[in-house]
Amino acid sequence: MQIETIDNKVNYSENLGEFPLSPIISEWMESILNKPILLRSLTKEHGSTINIHHLSSFDKNVDDYRKVFMTYELDGKVYFARKANKSKALVKRALESGVGVDTASREELAQAIELGGGHDNLVLTAAIKTRPMIELALRNNVPIIIDNEDELILVNDLANSLGRIAAIGLRLSGFKFKNKKLYSRFGFDVNLDKGWLKRWFNDDPRFHNLKLIGLHFHLDGYSTAQRAEGILQSLEFKEYLSVGGQTIRFLDIGGGILMNYLRDKQQWQDFNSALKQAVFGDRRPLTFGNDGLGYEKNHTTKSITGNLQTYPYYNDINKTSFLKEILDYTPGFGLDTVADTIRRNGMQLRIEPGRSLLDQVGMTIAKVAHRKKDSNGDWLVGLEMNMSQLRSSSRDFLVDPYLVYNREPEETKNTSMYFTGAYCLEQDVILKRKFTFPGLPGIGDHIAFINTGGYMMHFYETEAHLFALSTNLYCTADRLVDGTSIYRDDQL
Ligand SMILES: *Cc1c(COP(=O)(O)O)cnc(C)c1O
Repeated sequence: MQIETIDNKVNYSENLGEFPLSPIISEWMESILNKPILLRSLTKEHGSTINIHHLSSFDKNVDDYRKVFMTYELDGKVYFARKANKSKALVKRALESGVGVDTASREELAQAIELGGGHDNLVLTAAIKTRPMIELALRNNVPIIIDNEDELILVNDLANSLGRIAAIGLRLSGFKFKNKKLYSRFGFDVNLDKGWLKRWFNDDPRFHNLKLIGLHFHLDGYSTAQRAEGILQSLEFKEYLSVGGQTIRFLDIGGGILMNYLRDKQQWQDFNSALKQAVFGDRRPLTFGNDGLGYEKNHTTKSITGNLQTYPYYNDINKTSFLKEILDYTPGFGLDTVADTIRRNGMQLRIEPGRSLLDQVGMTIAKVAHRKKDSNGDWLVGLEMNMSQLRSSSRDFLVDPYLVYNREPEETKNTSMYFTGAYCLEQDVILKRKFTFPGLPGIGDHIAFINTGGYMMHFYETEAHLFALSTNLYCTADRLVDGTSIYRDDQL
Protein backbone atom coordinates (compact mmCIF):
# COMPACT_ATOMS: atom_id res chain seq x y z
CA MET A 1 0.00 0.00 0.00
CA GLN A 2 3.03 2.21 0.50
CA ILE A 3 2.78 4.32 -2.61
CA GLU A 4 -0.68 5.04 -3.92
CA THR A 5 -0.98 5.82 -7.56
CA ILE A 6 -3.57 7.33 -9.84
CA ASP A 7 -2.98 6.48 -13.49
CA ASN A 8 0.33 4.94 -12.39
CA LYS A 9 1.49 8.27 -11.02
CA VAL A 10 2.71 8.74 -7.46
CA ASN A 11 -0.10 10.36 -5.53
CA TYR A 12 0.61 9.98 -1.85
CA SER A 13 3.07 8.05 0.20
CA GLU A 14 3.75 6.95 3.70
CA ASN A 15 7.20 7.15 5.30
CA LEU A 16 9.63 4.76 3.63
CA GLY A 17 12.39 5.35 6.17
CA GLU A 18 14.34 2.75 8.08
CA PHE A 19 12.37 2.88 11.34
CA PRO A 20 8.80 3.69 10.38
CA LEU A 21 5.99 4.13 12.89
CA SER A 22 3.06 3.40 10.62
CA PRO A 23 -0.21 4.89 11.78
CA ILE A 24 -3.52 3.11 11.96
CA ILE A 25 -5.43 5.06 9.35
CA SER A 26 -9.16 5.12 8.57
CA GLU A 27 -10.83 4.89 5.26
CA TRP A 28 -12.07 8.48 5.46
CA MET A 29 -8.51 9.71 5.96
CA GLU A 30 -7.21 7.71 3.03
CA SER A 31 -9.99 9.01 0.85
CA ILE A 32 -8.82 12.56 1.62
CA LEU A 33 -5.19 11.68 0.89
CA ASN A 34 -6.38 10.34 -2.42
CA LYS A 35 -7.80 13.71 -3.40
CA PRO A 36 -4.96 16.20 -3.89
CA ILE A 37 -7.32 18.50 -5.74
CA LEU A 38 -9.69 18.60 -2.77
CA LEU A 39 -6.75 19.27 -0.44
CA ARG A 40 -5.54 22.08 -2.65
CA SER A 41 -8.95 23.70 -2.65
CA LEU A 42 -9.25 23.31 1.13
CA THR A 43 -5.92 24.99 1.93
CA LYS A 44 -6.60 27.62 -0.72
CA GLU A 45 -9.89 28.49 0.92
CA HIS A 46 -8.96 28.10 4.60
CA GLY A 47 -5.19 28.56 4.57
CA SER A 48 -2.70 26.20 6.12
CA THR A 49 -2.84 24.60 8.72
CA ILE A 50 -6.21 22.85 8.61
CA ASN A 51 -7.63 20.20 10.94
CA ILE A 52 -10.31 17.90 9.56
CA HIS A 53 -12.67 16.01 11.89
CA HIS A 54 -14.89 13.05 11.08
CA LEU A 55 -17.98 12.95 13.26
CA SER A 56 -19.07 9.35 12.64
CA SER A 57 -15.73 8.09 13.92
CA PHE A 58 -16.50 9.93 17.18
CA ASP A 59 -19.92 8.21 17.31
CA LYS A 60 -18.27 4.84 16.87
CA ASN A 61 -15.93 5.40 19.80
CA VAL A 62 -18.88 6.36 21.99
CA ASP A 63 -20.84 3.27 20.93
CA ASP A 64 -17.91 0.99 21.73
CA TYR A 65 -17.84 2.24 25.33
CA ARG A 66 -21.61 1.97 25.63
CA LYS A 67 -21.47 -1.66 24.55
CA VAL A 68 -19.06 -2.41 27.39
CA PHE A 69 -21.47 -0.89 29.91
CA MET A 70 -24.26 -3.03 28.44
CA THR A 71 -22.24 -6.22 28.56
CA TYR A 72 -21.44 -5.62 32.21
CA GLU A 73 -25.03 -4.53 32.96
CA LEU A 74 -23.77 -1.30 34.39
CA ASP A 75 -25.53 2.03 34.51
CA GLY A 76 -22.75 3.80 32.65
CA LYS A 77 -22.45 7.23 31.10
CA VAL A 78 -19.82 8.67 28.79
CA TYR A 79 -18.73 12.29 29.19
CA PHE A 80 -16.52 13.79 26.49
CA ALA A 81 -13.55 15.61 28.03
CA ARG A 82 -13.83 18.66 25.88
CA LYS A 83 -10.41 20.04 26.69
CA ALA A 84 -8.78 17.51 24.33
CA ASN A 85 -10.14 19.31 21.24
CA LYS A 86 -11.52 22.79 20.60
CA SER A 87 -14.10 21.96 17.91
CA LYS A 88 -17.68 22.93 18.59
CA ALA A 89 -18.98 20.31 16.16
CA LEU A 90 -17.83 17.51 18.45
CA VAL A 91 -19.57 19.03 21.47
CA LYS A 92 -22.75 19.40 19.46
CA ARG A 93 -22.49 15.83 18.21
CA ALA A 94 -21.86 14.53 21.71
CA LEU A 95 -24.88 16.29 23.19
CA GLU A 96 -27.13 15.23 20.31
CA SER A 97 -26.23 11.60 20.83
CA GLY A 98 -26.75 11.56 24.58
CA VAL A 99 -23.10 11.87 25.53
CA GLY A 100 -22.25 14.21 28.37
CA VAL A 101 -19.59 16.89 28.18
CA ASP A 102 -16.93 17.50 30.80
CA THR A 103 -16.18 21.23 30.83
CA ALA A 104 -13.17 22.79 32.47
CA SER A 105 -13.50 26.55 31.94
CA ARG A 106 -16.25 29.17 31.88
CA GLU A 107 -16.01 29.37 28.11
CA GLU A 108 -16.27 25.61 27.63
CA LEU A 109 -19.25 25.54 29.95
CA ALA A 110 -21.00 28.52 28.30
CA GLN A 111 -20.54 27.04 24.85
CA ALA A 112 -21.80 23.62 25.88
CA ILE A 113 -24.91 25.25 27.40
CA GLU A 114 -25.43 27.23 24.20
CA LEU A 115 -25.25 24.00 22.22
CA GLY A 116 -28.04 22.47 24.27
CA GLY A 117 -26.26 21.07 27.32
CA GLY A 118 -27.74 21.27 30.82
CA HIS A 119 -27.84 19.76 34.28
CA ASP A 120 -28.22 16.17 33.10
CA ASN A 121 -25.40 16.05 30.57
CA LEU A 122 -22.77 18.57 31.68
CA VAL A 123 -20.28 18.61 34.50
CA LEU A 124 -17.81 21.31 35.55
CA THR A 125 -14.40 19.96 36.58
CA ALA A 126 -12.22 23.09 36.17
CA ALA A 127 -8.95 23.01 38.12
CA ILE A 128 -9.32 26.68 39.09
CA LYS A 129 -12.86 27.90 39.60
CA THR A 130 -13.81 31.54 39.26
CA ARG A 131 -17.00 33.15 40.55
CA PRO A 132 -18.53 33.77 37.10
CA MET A 133 -17.87 30.14 36.19
CA ILE A 134 -19.47 28.80 39.34
CA GLU A 135 -22.46 31.14 38.99
CA LEU A 136 -23.03 29.99 35.43
CA ALA A 137 -22.99 26.37 36.59
CA LEU A 138 -25.35 27.13 39.48
CA ARG A 139 -27.86 29.00 37.31
CA ASN A 140 -28.00 25.95 35.04
CA ASN A 141 -27.88 23.36 37.85
CA VAL A 142 -24.74 21.86 36.32
CA PRO A 143 -22.96 19.60 38.83
CA ILE A 144 -19.65 21.01 40.05
CA ILE A 145 -16.74 18.79 40.98
CA ILE A 146 -15.11 20.25 44.08
CA ASP A 147 -11.34 20.10 44.51
CA ASN A 148 -10.73 21.69 47.91
CA GLU A 149 -12.25 23.25 50.99
CA ASP A 150 -12.02 26.86 49.77
CA GLU A 151 -14.02 25.87 46.70
CA LEU A 152 -16.59 24.09 48.81
CA ILE A 153 -17.15 27.24 50.88
CA LEU A 154 -17.26 29.50 47.81
CA VAL A 155 -19.74 27.29 45.97
CA ASN A 156 -21.95 27.07 49.03
CA ASP A 157 -21.87 30.87 49.50
CA LEU A 158 -22.64 31.60 45.87
CA ALA A 159 -25.44 29.02 45.87
CA ASN A 160 -26.80 30.62 49.00
CA SER A 161 -26.78 34.10 47.50
CA LEU A 162 -28.47 32.85 44.33
CA GLY A 163 -31.02 30.94 46.38
CA ARG A 164 -29.99 27.62 44.90
CA ILE A 165 -28.81 24.21 45.97
CA ALA A 166 -25.50 23.30 44.36
CA ALA A 167 -25.23 19.75 43.04
CA ILE A 168 -21.66 18.77 43.77
CA GLY A 169 -19.25 15.91 43.43
CA LEU A 170 -16.06 15.57 45.44
CA ARG A 171 -12.81 14.96 43.67
CA LEU A 172 -10.77 12.37 45.50
CA SER A 173 -7.10 11.41 45.43
CA GLY A 174 -4.39 9.82 47.54
CA PHE A 175 -5.55 6.25 46.89
CA LYS A 176 -3.34 3.54 48.32
CA PHE A 177 -1.70 1.28 45.78
CA LYS A 178 0.81 -1.42 46.73
CA ASN A 179 1.31 0.25 50.11
CA LYS A 180 2.10 3.63 48.60
CA LYS A 181 -0.15 6.63 48.20
CA LEU A 182 -0.75 7.83 44.65
CA TYR A 183 0.08 11.51 44.69
CA SER A 184 -2.04 14.07 42.87
CA ARG A 185 -2.22 17.84 43.22
CA PHE A 186 -5.95 17.53 42.70
CA GLY A 187 -8.73 16.57 45.04
CA PHE A 188 -9.34 15.64 48.67
CA ASP A 189 -7.19 12.97 50.26
CA VAL A 190 -9.33 9.86 50.80
CA ASN A 191 -7.56 9.32 54.09
CA LEU A 192 -8.42 12.70 55.52
CA ASP A 193 -10.33 12.98 58.76
CA LYS A 194 -13.73 12.46 57.21
CA GLY A 195 -15.45 13.65 60.35
CA TRP A 196 -15.43 17.25 59.28
CA LEU A 197 -16.67 16.40 55.78
CA LYS A 198 -19.58 14.61 57.37
CA ARG A 199 -20.25 17.57 59.62
CA TRP A 200 -20.27 19.85 56.61
CA PHE A 201 -22.90 17.91 54.82
CA ASN A 202 -25.03 16.84 57.74
CA ASP A 203 -24.75 19.10 60.73
CA ASP A 204 -23.28 22.46 59.84
CA PRO A 205 -26.10 24.87 58.93
CA ARG A 206 -23.60 27.03 57.05
CA PHE A 207 -23.36 24.35 54.36
CA HIS A 208 -26.99 23.75 53.65
CA ASN A 209 -26.77 24.87 50.05
CA LEU A 210 -24.76 21.84 48.98
CA LYS A 211 -26.08 18.52 47.81
CA LEU A 212 -23.46 15.84 47.40
CA ILE A 213 -24.44 13.67 44.45
CA GLY A 214 -21.21 12.12 43.25
CA LEU A 215 -17.57 11.23 43.65
CA HIS A 216 -14.87 11.81 41.09
CA PHE A 217 -11.24 11.10 40.38
CA HIS A 218 -8.87 11.33 37.45
CA LEU A 219 -5.56 9.53 37.68
CA ASP A 220 -2.34 10.17 35.89
CA GLY A 221 -0.56 7.26 34.25
CA TYR A 222 -2.10 4.23 32.60
CA SER A 223 -2.38 1.51 35.20
CA THR A 224 -5.75 -0.25 35.11
CA ALA A 225 -5.09 -1.73 38.57
CA GLN A 226 -4.63 1.78 40.00
CA ARG A 227 -7.93 2.87 38.46
CA ALA A 228 -9.63 -0.20 39.89
CA GLU A 229 -8.24 0.50 43.35
CA GLY A 230 -9.37 4.10 42.96
CA ILE A 231 -12.90 2.87 42.33
CA LEU A 232 -12.94 0.47 45.28
CA GLN A 233 -11.51 3.03 47.68
CA SER A 234 -13.93 5.71 46.46
CA LEU A 235 -16.80 3.34 47.17
CA GLU A 236 -15.50 2.80 50.70
CA PHE A 237 -15.33 6.56 51.10
CA LYS A 238 -18.92 6.76 49.92
CA GLU A 239 -20.11 4.27 52.57
CA TYR A 240 -18.80 6.63 55.18
CA LEU A 241 -20.37 9.78 53.78
CA SER A 242 -23.70 8.24 52.86
CA VAL A 243 -24.70 7.75 56.49
CA GLY A 244 -26.28 11.15 56.81
CA GLY A 245 -28.80 11.19 54.00
CA GLN A 246 -26.61 12.42 51.14
CA THR A 247 -27.50 10.49 48.02
CA ILE A 248 -24.29 9.82 46.18
CA ARG A 249 -25.45 8.57 42.80
CA PHE A 250 -22.42 8.51 40.56
CA LEU A 251 -18.76 7.69 40.53
CA ASP A 252 -16.83 9.44 37.79
CA ILE A 253 -13.46 7.84 37.08
CA GLY A 254 -12.19 10.54 34.72
CA GLY A 255 -10.36 9.85 31.47
CA GLY A 256 -6.87 8.70 30.60
CA ILE A 257 -8.05 5.57 28.81
CA LEU A 258 -5.17 4.47 26.57
CA MET A 259 -5.52 4.42 22.83
CA ASN A 260 -3.35 2.92 20.13
CA TYR A 261 -1.94 4.94 17.23
CA LEU A 262 0.30 2.38 15.58
CA ARG A 263 -0.18 -0.63 13.33
CA ASP A 264 2.79 -2.67 14.42
CA LYS A 265 4.22 -3.43 17.84
CA GLN A 266 7.51 -4.58 16.33
CA GLN A 267 8.03 -1.17 14.70
CA TRP A 268 7.51 0.51 18.05
CA GLN A 269 10.06 -1.75 19.75
CA ASP A 270 12.55 -1.43 16.89
CA PHE A 271 12.28 2.34 16.94
CA ASN A 272 12.90 2.38 20.67
CA SER A 273 16.10 0.35 20.42
CA ALA A 274 17.32 2.23 17.37
CA LEU A 275 16.76 5.57 19.08
CA LYS A 276 18.88 4.45 22.04
CA GLN A 277 21.59 3.24 19.69
CA ALA A 278 21.56 6.57 17.87
CA VAL A 279 21.79 8.51 21.15
CA PHE A 280 24.67 6.29 22.15
CA GLY A 281 26.40 7.06 18.85
CA ASP A 282 26.16 3.58 17.39
CA ARG A 283 24.08 4.59 14.41
CA ARG A 284 23.10 7.64 12.40
CA PRO A 285 20.70 10.01 14.20
CA LEU A 286 16.98 9.26 13.79
CA THR A 287 16.00 12.66 15.10
CA PHE A 288 16.86 16.32 14.56
CA GLY A 289 20.05 17.12 16.48
CA ASN A 290 20.03 13.48 17.67
CA ASP A 291 17.35 14.38 20.22
CA GLY A 292 16.98 11.41 22.58
CA LEU A 293 13.36 12.31 23.48
CA GLY A 294 14.29 11.59 27.08
CA TYR A 295 17.12 9.11 26.55
CA GLU A 296 20.59 10.41 27.34
CA LYS A 297 24.07 9.07 27.04
CA ASN A 298 25.97 8.88 30.28
CA HIS A 299 29.56 9.40 29.21
CA THR A 300 31.08 8.14 32.46
CA THR A 301 29.22 4.83 32.68
CA LYS A 302 28.91 4.52 28.90
CA SER A 303 25.25 3.65 29.14
CA ILE A 304 21.85 5.08 28.21
CA THR A 305 19.89 6.68 31.02
CA GLY A 306 16.43 8.19 31.20
CA ASN A 307 13.13 7.17 29.69
CA LEU A 308 11.28 7.91 26.51
CA GLN A 309 9.30 11.01 27.48
CA THR A 310 6.49 10.54 25.02
CA TYR A 311 3.00 9.17 25.04
CA PRO A 312 3.11 5.36 24.66
CA TYR A 313 1.89 5.39 21.07
CA TYR A 314 1.61 1.62 20.76
CA ASN A 315 -0.76 -0.17 23.14
CA ASP A 316 -2.11 -3.71 23.02
CA ILE A 317 -4.64 -2.86 25.72
CA ASN A 318 -6.54 0.21 24.69
CA LYS A 319 -9.99 1.81 24.73
CA THR A 320 -12.62 -0.86 25.50
CA SER A 321 -10.13 -3.56 26.53
CA PHE A 322 -8.59 -1.02 28.92
CA LEU A 323 -12.00 -0.30 30.44
CA LYS A 324 -12.78 -4.03 30.67
CA GLU A 325 -9.53 -4.67 32.48
CA ILE A 326 -10.58 -2.13 35.11
CA LEU A 327 -14.05 -3.67 35.47
CA ASP A 328 -12.72 -7.23 35.73
CA TYR A 329 -10.20 -6.38 38.45
CA THR A 330 -10.55 -8.11 41.81
CA PRO A 331 -8.63 -7.07 44.90
CA GLY A 332 -7.98 -10.72 45.75
CA PHE A 333 -8.82 -14.28 44.78
CA GLY A 334 -12.54 -15.05 44.94
CA LEU A 335 -13.52 -11.46 45.75
CA ASP A 336 -16.04 -9.41 43.79
CA THR A 337 -14.88 -7.68 40.64
CA VAL A 338 -14.95 -3.92 40.33
CA ALA A 339 -18.03 -4.23 38.11
CA ASP A 340 -19.81 -6.35 40.75
CA THR A 341 -18.96 -3.84 43.43
CA ILE A 342 -20.24 -0.88 41.42
CA ARG A 343 -23.48 -2.73 40.67
CA ARG A 344 -23.93 -3.73 44.29
CA ASN A 345 -23.53 -0.09 45.32
CA GLY A 346 -26.17 0.96 42.81
CA MET A 347 -23.90 3.65 41.46
CA GLN A 348 -23.79 5.15 38.02
CA LEU A 349 -20.31 4.75 36.54
CA ARG A 350 -19.15 7.75 34.55
CA ILE A 351 -16.09 7.95 32.37
CA GLU A 352 -14.61 11.14 30.91
CA PRO A 353 -12.39 10.17 28.01
CA GLY A 354 -10.88 12.90 25.89
CA ARG A 355 -8.13 11.42 23.75
CA SER A 356 -9.64 7.97 23.27
CA LEU A 357 -13.02 9.34 22.10
CA LEU A 358 -11.05 11.19 19.43
CA ASP A 359 -9.31 8.10 18.08
CA GLN A 360 -9.39 8.25 14.26
CA VAL A 361 -11.45 11.45 14.45
CA GLY A 362 -8.97 14.06 13.28
CA MET A 363 -6.11 14.81 10.94
CA THR A 364 -3.92 17.87 10.48
CA ILE A 365 -2.79 19.06 7.07
CA ALA A 366 -0.17 21.63 6.14
CA LYS A 367 1.13 23.01 2.88
CA VAL A 368 4.75 22.88 1.74
CA ALA A 369 6.26 26.38 1.43
CA HIS A 370 9.87 25.65 0.51
CA ARG A 371 12.63 23.02 0.34
CA LYS A 372 16.24 23.63 1.21
CA LYS A 373 19.42 21.85 2.19
CA ASP A 374 20.95 22.83 5.52
CA SER A 375 24.66 22.97 6.27
CA ASN A 376 24.61 19.33 7.38
CA GLY A 377 23.35 18.34 3.97
CA ASP A 378 19.87 17.46 5.29
CA TRP A 379 16.73 18.41 3.41
CA LEU A 380 14.49 20.76 5.34
CA VAL A 381 10.95 21.06 4.09
CA GLY A 382 9.36 24.30 5.34
CA LEU A 383 5.64 24.03 6.08
CA GLU A 384 2.99 26.73 6.40
CA MET A 385 2.52 25.60 9.98
CA ASN A 386 4.20 26.00 13.33
CA MET A 387 5.30 23.68 16.10
CA SER A 388 2.44 24.67 18.40
CA GLN A 389 -0.05 23.20 15.93
CA LEU A 390 1.12 19.65 16.57
CA ARG A 391 2.11 19.49 20.17
CA SER A 392 1.15 17.94 23.47
CA SER A 393 2.93 17.23 26.70
CA SER A 394 4.59 14.32 24.84
CA ARG A 395 8.17 15.15 23.71
CA ASP A 396 7.27 14.19 20.14
CA PHE A 397 4.35 12.82 18.15
CA LEU A 398 5.73 9.41 17.20
CA VAL A 399 3.37 8.68 14.33
CA ASP A 400 4.42 8.87 10.67
CA PRO A 401 2.94 11.59 8.46
CA TYR A 402 1.93 11.13 4.83
CA LEU A 403 3.08 13.17 1.89
CA VAL A 404 0.43 14.06 -0.69
CA TYR A 405 1.91 15.05 -4.03
CA ASN A 406 0.10 17.40 -6.40
CA ARG A 407 2.05 15.93 -9.26
CA GLU A 408 4.63 13.25 -9.55
CA PRO A 409 7.93 14.33 -7.96
CA GLU A 410 10.50 15.73 -10.39
CA GLU A 411 12.84 12.93 -9.49
CA THR A 412 11.48 9.66 -8.09
CA LYS A 413 14.22 8.76 -5.65
CA ASN A 414 13.94 8.02 -1.94
CA THR A 415 14.71 11.28 -0.16
CA SER A 416 15.00 11.90 3.58
CA MET A 417 13.85 15.14 5.15
CA TYR A 418 12.83 17.03 8.26
CA PHE A 419 9.77 19.28 8.40
CA THR A 420 10.31 22.78 9.72
CA GLY A 421 7.83 25.38 10.94
CA ALA A 422 7.18 29.10 10.87
CA TYR A 423 8.27 30.20 14.33
CA CYS A 424 11.60 32.00 14.43
CA LEU A 425 13.13 29.39 16.70
CA GLU A 426 15.78 26.85 15.87
CA GLN A 427 13.59 24.33 17.66
CA ASP A 428 10.57 24.77 15.38
CA VAL A 429 11.01 21.39 13.77
CA ILE A 430 7.62 19.75 13.34
CA LEU A 431 8.14 16.20 14.49
CA LYS A 432 11.68 15.43 15.59
CA ARG A 433 12.14 12.44 13.32
CA LYS A 434 13.57 12.32 9.83
CA PHE A 435 11.24 10.91 7.19
CA THR A 436 11.83 9.33 3.80
CA PHE A 437 9.51 9.70 0.82
CA PRO A 438 9.80 8.61 -2.82
CA GLY A 439 10.74 12.13 -3.90
CA LEU A 440 11.14 15.66 -2.59
CA PRO A 441 7.71 17.34 -2.26
CA GLY A 442 6.92 20.21 -4.56
CA ILE A 443 5.91 23.66 -3.32
CA GLY A 444 2.17 23.49 -2.56
CA ASP A 445 2.17 19.75 -1.84
CA HIS A 446 0.64 18.67 1.46
CA ILE A 447 1.83 16.84 4.54
CA ALA A 448 -0.87 15.02 6.49
CA PHE A 449 -0.49 14.18 10.16
CA ILE A 450 -2.71 11.27 11.13
CA ASN A 451 -4.94 10.92 14.19
CA THR A 452 -4.14 14.27 15.77
CA GLY A 453 -7.64 14.95 17.20
CA GLY A 454 -6.73 14.31 20.83
CA TYR A 455 -4.63 17.21 22.18
CA MET A 456 -2.07 17.24 19.34
CA MET A 457 -3.75 19.86 17.18
CA HIS A 458 -5.07 22.22 19.83
CA PHE A 459 -3.87 21.93 23.35
CA TYR A 460 -0.65 23.95 23.09
CA GLU A 461 -1.50 26.01 20.03
CA THR A 462 -0.30 29.63 20.26
CA GLU A 463 -0.47 32.74 18.10
CA ALA A 464 3.16 33.83 18.28
CA HIS A 465 4.12 36.24 15.46
CA LEU A 466 0.33 36.85 15.30
CA PHE A 467 -0.02 33.82 13.06
CA ALA A 468 -3.63 32.80 12.79
CA LEU A 469 -4.75 29.67 14.60
CA SER A 470 -5.33 26.63 12.41
CA THR A 471 -8.76 26.25 10.81
CA ASN A 472 -11.01 23.52 12.13
CA LEU A 473 -13.17 21.67 9.64
CA TYR A 474 -15.53 18.78 10.11
CA CYS A 475 -17.21 16.36 7.78
CA THR A 476 -20.67 15.00 8.25
CA ALA A 477 -20.79 12.29 5.59
CA ASP A 478 -19.60 8.82 6.51
CA ARG A 479 -17.83 8.42 3.20
CA LEU A 480 -16.13 11.36 1.68
CA VAL A 481 -16.94 11.66 -1.99
CA ASP A 482 -16.03 15.30 -2.52
CA GLY A 483 -15.70 18.49 -0.49
CA THR A 484 -19.42 19.25 -0.22
CA SER A 485 -19.80 17.70 3.21
CA ILE A 486 -16.84 19.57 4.76
CA TYR A 487 -17.70 22.59 6.89
CA ARG A 488 -15.92 25.20 8.97
CA ASP A 489 -16.26 24.69 12.68
CA ASP A 490 -16.34 28.43 13.42
CA GLN A 491 -19.41 28.81 11.22
CA LEU A 492 -21.38 26.26 13.19
C1 LIG B 1 -7.79 15.57 31.13
C2 LIG B 1 -8.92 15.06 31.83
C3 LIG B 1 -9.76 14.10 31.25
C4 LIG B 1 -9.47 13.49 29.89
O1 LIG B 1 -8.31 12.74 29.84
P1 LIG B 1 -7.91 11.93 28.53
O2 LIG B 1 -6.54 11.44 28.82
O3 LIG B 1 -7.95 12.86 27.38
O4 LIG B 1 -8.89 10.81 28.38
C5 LIG B 1 -10.88 13.71 31.94
N1 LIG B 1 -11.18 14.21 33.16
C6 LIG B 1 -10.39 15.13 33.77
C7 LIG B 1 -10.77 15.63 35.11
C8 LIG B 1 -9.25 15.58 33.13
O5 LIG B 1 -8.46 16.46 33.74
